[in-house]
This record gives sequence, C-alpha cells and structure tokens, in this order.
Amino acid sequence: MDRRVRVRFAPSPTGPLHIGGVRTALYNYLFAHKHGGDFLIRIEDTDQTRYVPGAEEYIIESLKWLGIVASEGIGFGDGPHAPYRQSERKPMYKQYAMQLIEAGHAYYAFDTAEELEGMRERLKASNVDAKYDAITRGTMKNSLTLPEDEVKRRLEAGDAYVVRFKLPRKEEVKFSDEIRGWVSFNTNQLDDKVLFKSDGMPTYHLANVVDDYLMQITHVIRGEEWLPSAPLHVLLYRAFGWEEVMPKFAHLPLLLKPEGNGKLSKRDGDRLGFPVFPMNWIDPTSGELSSGYKQAGYLPEAVVNLLALLGWNPGTSQELFTLDELVQAFSLDRVSKSGAKFDQNKAKWFNQQYVRKLSDEALAPFLQSALVENGINSHFKDAFVLKTCSLIKEKISFTKEVWEYSKYFFIAPTSYDEGVIKKRWTDKIPTLLNDLVQGFDSLNDFTHLSIEAAYNEALNKNEVLGKDFLQLFRVILSGVAGGPPLFEIAELIGKAETIKRIQNALEKLPN
Ligand code: GLU
Repeated sequence: MDRRVRVRFAPSPTGPLHIGGVRTALYNYLFAHKHGGDFLIRIEDTDQTRYVPGAEEYIIESLKWLGIVASEGIGFGDGPHAPYRQSERKPMYKQYAMQLIEAGHAYYAFDTAEELEGMRERLKASNVDAKYDAITRGTMKNSLTLPEDEVKRRLEAGDAYVVRFKLPRKEEVKFSDEIRGWVSFNTNQLDDKVLFKSDGMPTYHLANVVDDYLMQITHVIRGEEWLPSAPLHVLLYRAFGWEEVMPKFAHLPLLLKPEGNGKLSKRDGDRLGFPVFPMNWIDPTSGELSSGYKQAGYLPEAVVNLLALLGWNPGTSQELFTLDELVQAFSLDRVSKSGAKFDQNKAKWFNQQYVRKLSDEALAPFLQSALVENGINSHFKDAFVLKTCSLIKEKISFTKEVWEYSKYFFIAPTSYDEGVIKKRWTDKIPTLLNDLVQGFDSLNDFTHLSIEAAYNEALNKNEVLGKDFLQLFRVILSGVAGGPPLFEIAELIGKAETIKRIQNALEKLPN
C-alpha cells in the first residue's frame, strides 16, 4: 500500500540559511503539496558545538517570509511527532544505539583522542588511508577487541565511550536516487561512523535516520552534500530492519557560483553584489552582516520563483510561476543532476516582473515608509502616493528603489542633469519657458492632455522642436533625464508646482 507522502526540511541551526537551503525547503514543500502530503520542519541540533544562537529563529522567519509553510514542526505548530527539535528528543535515541549493539551492527569504542591520533599517524606513515574501519577497528580499544568483562567494567565506571557503526567490509551499497538514478558506494570507502556518545547525544546520522523512521518520512529530499552519507543511512535502515519503510532519496544539485565552478558562497555574493541569504543576518560573534534578499528589495514571490527554476525546469518555456502553479508543475524527475549556476541578472529580472505585477496599493507602503524615512511631511494624499506608484512601477526592479525613482514627485529638484542642460539649453529657452508658464497658468483643467496641448502651442510659437526640448523639460521638472510619461508627472504634481519648477529653472539655469 502506498504510504501518505511525508517529507521534511531538517536544518541545523549553525548560522543563516543559505539560499541553497531555502531551495531544499521549497522543493520539499512543492513535493509535499503536489502529492497531497505533509511537510515538516525538524531542527537538527545534536552538534551543540556548532549551535549558533538566533539561527533557528532566522530559519523559521525566512521560511515564513517566503510563504514556505510547514504542516507540522518547529515554528509551525507541533504535530503528532513532537518534539521536533532533536536536542529535546535526546532521551529517545539511546535505545536505538543499544538495539544496534545487541544485533551486532554497532559497538562501543573507548579510544581516547590521543589513541585515535596515534592510529592516524601510524597509518599515514605506511601510506594507508587512515580511518576507523573493518581493518583498523581490530587494533583499537573497543567492545570487539576488549574482553567482555572489561567492557562491562568500563561502562559501569562511567568511562567515556562512543558507539560506532560496524560497517560491513567491502560491500557494494546500492540505492536508487530519485534524481541521480542508481548510486553505488563500496563500504571500503567509508569508516565506522560514530552514532552515539556517552553524554547521551546521538550524532547527526543516528538522529537523522531514527527521526525519519519515527516521523514516517517517505522521501528524503536534501542537498547533494549529503550524498556521501546516504550509503551509511541505507545500511542503518537495513541494520534496524526498517528497509520496508526506508524513504526514497533525492539529492539536489548544488547551486553554483555565477562564473567558474564551485558552490555559490557568501563571498561570491559580496564580490558581485547580490545576497545569498533570504534575510539580513548579523553574526552574533563577529557582528558581521550578511545581506538578505528581503532587505535588498526582493519580493518573496520572486525569490521563490527564481529558486524553483535553479535546478528544476517545467519542460516548457514558462518562467513565471506562483507558488500554487509551481506545486502543480513540480516533479523530481525534472530536477537536473548537474549543478545550477546562479545568475544575478536573471534574479533581478524575476524581481522586476513581480514588482510590475504589484498593485499600486501593495507598492504604496514601501513608498510611505520611504517618505517617513526621508522626513517628508505627509500632506501628500493617499491618492497622490498611489498614482506615483503606478507611474514609477515600470521603472524599478526592487521595492527599495521606490524612493530614488519617485523623490521628485515630492521634492522639487535642487540640481539638474548637467549633460542635458549643456546639450539642450539655447537662447530660445527662457522665452519658451515663460510662454509655457503663461500657457499652463491659463489652463482651467490641468490634465496631461491639456498640458500637452499648451506645451505644443508654446513650442510652435517659439519654433522649437519637441525632440530638442522634451528631455530638457523633463530635467527642469524632475532633475533627471529619465522617467515615466512627462505630462502625467506634471498633471500629478499639479499646476502650481509645475509652474514653480519652471520658474526655479529660469532663475537657476543659464540665461
Ligand atoms: N541537518 C542536515 C542539514 O543541516 C540535514 C540533512 C538531511 O536532510 O538529511 O542539512
């Protein structure tokens, strides 16, 4: 019988969540929804030495910002398998380590750090790959080599120990990866991994497998960096006798840097000017800031869309997808095996598309807060702000650019694009500007159509061509050389302000 699809995102709270991790969470979400299953969040914090305060909250907040909502687990309300934080599940794991020891699949090892180091040195000297494995375990201090009563005595005395997995010697471990097809590893490439420590804490491998089993996970969808751990996990399922319910594995391709090879890193982002984290993160120790998509002015829908297409394709030329459309279109068999190159121009393009789709009402709060930040006393009516948004929307790629592109709607220019002035200012201009003032002043209805008519009339009278003046007029009204339709700008700022700006230019600019 087919089991209900259950997948999980299982981050370790060791720092901010890289966008590669966000993509893993997203693919899990898409897969779960596509199959009408469950998506849960589990926090894997068994390695306390790597614990970073604030990281867990950061991860959850990032997922919430992006709308990657879980059906159970940390941050999203507990479900039937609580707790979902491994440190809180600590008492559950020991019995599983003991089960493996009893079945002969694991053993106690008492070696000290010096003894382990000594083994490594010895083997290195004889040019052998230095690892604790089927060959070397026979020379070390463990429950396979020590007499039974000594093992018992050490355990009773509370000696420190670890439980290691007893890896079968030279065995081919094969499993079918949903993305890569058949993957095989020989156990002689692996070592007897530590599963459990005498402080009662499991390691990642044991906790991960036990929890996936207990939480009835059907598919493990995770980053490629976990592929080397997969054979051990497969062997653990076998050793526990859980093969029947072993999840299917899907190892996602890496996110690669824009140029050259290698994994996309924070350094690439810093160097090329794009974030590699969903939100700003301040390292609690160094105080160093890692910039995030949210604060860089990206919309969550755009980030979701661009990440979805980094490593997966719909098989059509469609590029813009809502989260629901992604759910419909998603399948693991369209995830590529090879790494996906991050393209910052494409990322910007995606955001632009979503900014353009925003309603004026949705863009307005970004402008409102920029007005407050820039100390603009808000006598501007909501309708004015909304209309400004509608005019500049096409021009911006990021919500944070809203102020830069709209400031002249609120403040008269104090400086003018010099290139345009130099090129376009002629002796005829002052008279033309005075005629414009008069023409505009006489308009009862100050609309872009009446403005344009009065403008053309003044141009004709002064025998100036539109192509020689329009850009100069734009600079006079806004200070800058580009922007939305000019007569609409004039209509919005109004008759008095338009005339005032022309008069300012007459005073300040060459006569
Ligand atoms: N805790 C692991 C991580 O930080 C999870 C790997 C897995 O999904 O199995 O990515």
